[in-house]
Amino acid sequence: MKIPFLDLKAQYLPLSEEIDDALKQVLGACAFSGGPFVENFEKHFASYCQCSHAIGVGSGTEALWLALLALDVGKGDEVITVPNTFIATAEAISLCGASPVFVDVDEDSYTMDPALLEAAITPQTKAVIPVHLYGQMADMDPIINIARKHGLYVIEDACQAHGAGYKGKRAGSMGDAGCFSFYPGKNLGAYGEAGGVVTNNPDLAAKVKMLRDHGQSKKYFHEVVGVNSRMDGLQGAVLGVKLQYLTAWNEARIRNAELYKLMLADVEEVTLPKNMDYAHHINHVFAIRVKNRDAFMTALTDKGIGCGIHYPVPIHLQSAYASLGKGKGSYPVAEQCAEELVSLPMFPELKEEQIEYVAQEIKRYFRSSSYQLPDEGGNGGDAPLETRRQEVVFL
Ligand SMILES: *Cc1c(COP(=O)(O)O)cnc(C)c1O
Repeated sequence: MKIPFLDLKAQYLPLSEEIDDALKQVLGACAFSGGPFVENFEKHFASYCQCSHAIGVGSGTEALWLALLALDVGKGDEVITVPNTFIATAEAISLCGASPVFVDVDEDSYTMDPALLEAAITPQTKAVIPVHLYGQMADMDPIINIARKHGLYVIEDACQAHGAGYKGKRAGSMGDAGCFSFYPGKNLGAYGEAGGVVTNNPDLAAKVKMLRDHGQSKKYFHEVVGVNSRMDGLQGAVLGVKLQYLTAWNEARIRNAELYKLMLADVEEVTLPKNMDYAHHINHVFAIRVKNRDAFMTALTDKGIGCGIHYPVPIHLQSAYASLGKGKGSYPVAEQCAEELVSLPMFPELKEEQIEYVAQEIKRYFRSSSYQLPDEGGNGGDAPLETRRQEVVFL
């Protein structure tokens, strides 16, 4: 059986008529840059996120960058985030001229450990960017409390968390701003590049709106230096259609995650992802942890199962951020995650028998002789199954 990591076609085909029609409407109206289709999506996405404003921009990276710029984050400032995220979170900080400062993550949620936040704050700190990784929200209450106490802005990187929740509140609605990516592979994906900023602060919304359009609110009268980060009309139309299905898709992802968990519950070599009590986890990525990951992934790939690593190198160990001088050992939980995490196929249309196949192959792999134990000496090869299992210990 061949099981792709992601299957965008399976999502497009049942909606093709509706989406093609929406695209034709944009073509007919020649509303290519911004315009009514983008405005329509913005209105509905704001309300979906329990926010008064949504501003469509060019990408998730630009959403983060423009939100920081709108909050006057710049040269000499520090912004605190986590090292186990997509590079864009740190890039957005750097693009403002500010410096990223990392705090390690919690070993259960893989999101910012609030207990480590306060120690990372300096007189230069201006903002905190918790990342709602894999669809699970960071523990926002303590993060926001600490930020408020120190007069810091909070920007949620919700690029993997469209529709995720925290104690009844939607991702993106809790900080000063929430930033989303609509990259095709995200839970709500455009058919090209797109992103969005949501906020309940009208002044901030106006500023992001101005910045995405060359610093103008009136054509050719430029109040500040901005950029071109307007959302495409075609993307606005696609997203407007797809937003109506997001809740159902998220529910399907949750069901798929529960199936994986049920079927892999007795595989002790696998550490399953946890749902935090506070979180409505929308399973953008289903990442398990295993030792000897390379061999595991090769075995799965050989069986036609697509898997990925999110992410193999934490930001502080990337060449691009070598100048921060944070070597190996600086953020041990994030580093261990980078070594052990494997993302299994996860998308709403995944079928139960496909999940069953993945689970079966994982079990088969750990029971097969090709699975190499770390050398404990002695008669490993002939030992009964139980003693040949490798203990998975975290830290
Ligand atoms: C995808 C992603 C981004 C960047 O979004 P783009 O639309 O690709 O620019 C930022 N942060 C996180 C956590 C992401 O997953």
